[in-house]
This record gives sequence, structure tokens and C-alpha cells, in this order.
Amino acid sequence: MSQTKIKQTAGREALGEFAPEFAHLNDDILFGEVWSRNDLLSLRDRSIVTVVALMSQGLTDSSFKYHLESAKKNGVTRTEIAEILTHAAFYAGWPKAWAAFRMAKEVWTEEPEKDNASNSMEEYARTILFPIGNPNDAFAQYFIGQSYLAPVVTEGVPVFNVTFEPGCRNNWHIHKATKGGGQTLICVGGRGYYQEWGTAPVELHPGDSVYIPAGVKHWHGAAPDSWFSHLAFEVPGENTSNEWLEPVNDEEYSKLK
Ligand code: MN
Repeated sequence: MSQTKIKQTAGREALGEFAPEFAHLNDDILFGEVWSRNDLLSLRDRSIVTVVALMSQGLTDSSFKYHLESAKKNGVTRTEIAEILTHAAFYAGWPKAWAAFRMAKEVWTEEPEKDNASNSMEEYARTILFPIGNPNDAFAQYFIGQSYLAPVVTEGVPVFNVTFEPGCRNNWHIHKATKGGGQTLICVGGRGYYQEWGTAPVELHPGDSVYIPAGVKHWHGAAPDSWFSHLAFEVPGENTSNEWLEPVNDEEYSKLK
């Protein structure tokens, strides 16, 4: 991550004539240097630290409001600020949390993040018959986003349930074999895509299946806004192996609905 310098003028605007050195320290050092070191700690994290530090002193004035607004701008969600202030209440003091909440309510005025809540793994898991399993750490390097793996059948023809979080997909890859081989996918939950190199992506819904012959370059994964699960069958073959290739181009993927 590279540094993005924060431009702050509040010090000079409010105190530039009265206390030019304080204004300089505020605008150029505190914001221009410390806040700007976002390669060491993200703006979002700095916002959380600052909000909690101010709340713990009971400083719920206009500067607190400014920092709540910055926190929101830096990616802290309504659900998160509620959790942050609740957590801090135990350490900083109950009445200080009450005061902070009054101001936070004025900043996070939008409706609760219903979409996110209904996209939770727990809620998605209730919609599918197969388990989601564990994080697919062994293959994480070949995926963008988080995937999960649950063995369904471990003998004979092994079958795994592969679950992709929204936006997750595997890299382009080829199932290799000198005879037979390839992969069969059967969609069992959510909504996702399968694409063969040189052809348009095909949308997959529960019940849809795809046979991928050995030697065909392809990827599979979730739609940007939906969880997705498919059973993966390794088709028996001779000298089978997987060749992992480049990630799916972000720009191309982002065109998918
Ligand atoms: Mn595959």
C-alpha cells in the first residue's frame, strides 16, 4: 500500500493567525504525517483508534463528530461503529458510550446493511443441503477471495462441495490427463459462473451441471454479489494433474452481474 497524503486545513483556518505553530503541527504533522502513514496503519484503523480515544475522554464535541464522519468515510459501517462503541463502553465508561451513540446516530443515518446481513455465511449455509466445510487454505493461492471445502465422498470417485464467498473465483486452470480426466461441477447453492477460455461466461444455478474435459482452460466461481457452491467430481483418468494459471481479470469479472 502506498501513502496517500492527507490534506488538512482546519488548523490554519481556525487558528492560523492566533497560533500559527499549533496550526502547522495540526495540519502538517498530525494529519500531513501521522494520519498520512496509511502504509503502516490504514485510515480506517486510525479512525477507530481516534474515535475510541476521544470517546474515552468524554470528548463528544464537534471534533468527535468530525472523526465519526471520517470513520464512516474510511469504511466503518453502521454495524461496526455500534459494535466498536459497545465494546469501548466497558473500558471507557457507560455514559460516555451513551453520548457517543447520540452523535453516531446522526452520522450513520442510513438503513441497516440488510444486504450484508442476508449475505452472511450463516444465512447462506441454511439454504444448501451440503456442508460448507473449512477454509480452503491449501488452494487459497489459486483463488481470489475466500473459498471453503467440504468432503462429501472420499472413496471411489471423490466429491467435494466447494463454496465461494461473493466475488470469489478460482484462477484460470486446466485439469490435465493423458486419458479420461476432467471435472464435473454440479451447482448446489447460490449463483455463480463457469467460463471456458475464448467463450462467454455461463451463469450457474442450483441443479445446473458442467462437464469440463481434460485440457480445457477455464475458471469457476461466485457471482460478485452471491455465495455459490458446487459439487466437484474428479473424473477418473490417467496421469491427472492440475495446471494453475493467471487470475481472472478483475475488469472482465466486474462486468458480470
Ligand atoms: Mn476446474
